[in-house]
Amino acid sequence: MATIDIKNLRKVFGDAGEQIVAVDDFDLTIEDGEFLVFVGPSGCGKTTTLRCVAGLEDVTEGSIEFDGTDVTDQRARERDVAMVFQNYALYPHMTVRKNIGFPLRLSTKQSTAEIDAKVDEVTEMLGIQQLLDQKPKELSGGQQQRVALGRAIIRDPELFLMDEPLSNLDAKLRSTMRTELQELQQDLGVTTAYVTHDQTEAMAMGDRIAILNEGKLQQVGTAEEVYRSPTNEFVAGFIGSPSINLFTADVDGDTLTGPGGFTFTLEDTALLSDKDRVRVGVRPEDLRLSSGGSMPSVVTVVEQMGNENFLYAEMGGVDLTARIESGIKPEEGTRVAFAFDEEDLYLFDSQTGEAIK
Ligand code: ATP
Repeated sequence: MATIDIKNLRKVFGDAGEQIVAVDDFDLTIEDGEFLVFVGPSGCGKTTTLRCVAGLEDVTEGSIEFDGTDVTDQRARERDVAMVFQNYALYPHMTVRKNIGFPLRLSTKQSTAEIDAKVDEVTEMLGIQQLLDQKPKELSGGQQQRVALGRAIIRDPELFLMDEPLSNLDAKLRSTMRTELQELQQDLGVTTAYVTHDQTEAMAMGDRIAILNEGKLQQVGTAEEVYRSPTNEFVAGFIGSPSINLFTADVDGDTLTGPGGFTFTLEDTALLSDKDRVRVGVRPEDLRLSSGGSMPSVVTVVEQMGNENFLYAEMGGVDLTARIESGIKPEEGTRVAFAFDEEDLYLFDSQTGEAIK
């Protein structure tokens, strides 16, 4: 187990002609035994960060420490790290037993009997002991993923690095495997950094979530922290499903006015003192239908989810989503209005996107 310190990490690809800054100004500590999830849109630098921690990429600037020891110049195989990838990377010609035992055969002087005993222990933990003599192509996606996990676990590393390990699985299996992986990580207590582009997966799995955008770390926190107190508009928009409603409003004293006749009077006006315009955010579950509400809108679609409905509407050219009770199904074209409470309102600086409230 280990505490991982990523200090001022910068990774630039390419030569002087065309440079891509994949990761920049990145500071993060992954606590001993923590399950930390990196999440962000495609190309934001998740995989590159993970590969720098693994030692698979040279860093351009900054350093990486494992338990206070600088490992920046160590090669991948000198770091006590096990990686699990999306494509499993199993050896097709080897049986499950051979695949899982492979890292030990490579790196230790243990006898075949000792390695076999460890393989038995790990496969039992993963519920795949009946597959030991099969080859990867005879296995389902979920089984292959368990074998890949087994190969990581058997090394008993200081750190697990996982890059979208569940993304090749169907939705149901992915959800089962999420829980299994979390339980396994808790039992083993091994520090884990996990990459996904799926914010739902990140929220479900991570002790903490690190949200990246364009190579920069935006926020690190628990699911509740990043959901309830996003540091900026990007985080607010990325976390939450369906996404938060966002639009621009003008500030006049204690009143916000915006598209389609939006009007909202704030009790707490100190936050707005030096602003002419703000970005306003309200989450779909915080909207309720209320005649005379501050958001006059026209219904576009109602999506029935069974236990609730998603109501899509338009307010002066801004698309809105509201989560409402399943019994309420206004027809397309109906004029409605939404209300919300001030405590559920998010405000962002219209220039920088930084959170004001
Ligand atoms: P995805 O979810 O699509 O895998 P990601 O968040 O993991 O994306 P990275 O793979 O880390 O993103 O890529 C970050 C940026 O660095 C991208 O612009 C990508 O094109 C670039 N990049 C990554 N690897 C290389 C490389 N070997 N050479 C040049 N550019 C690269």
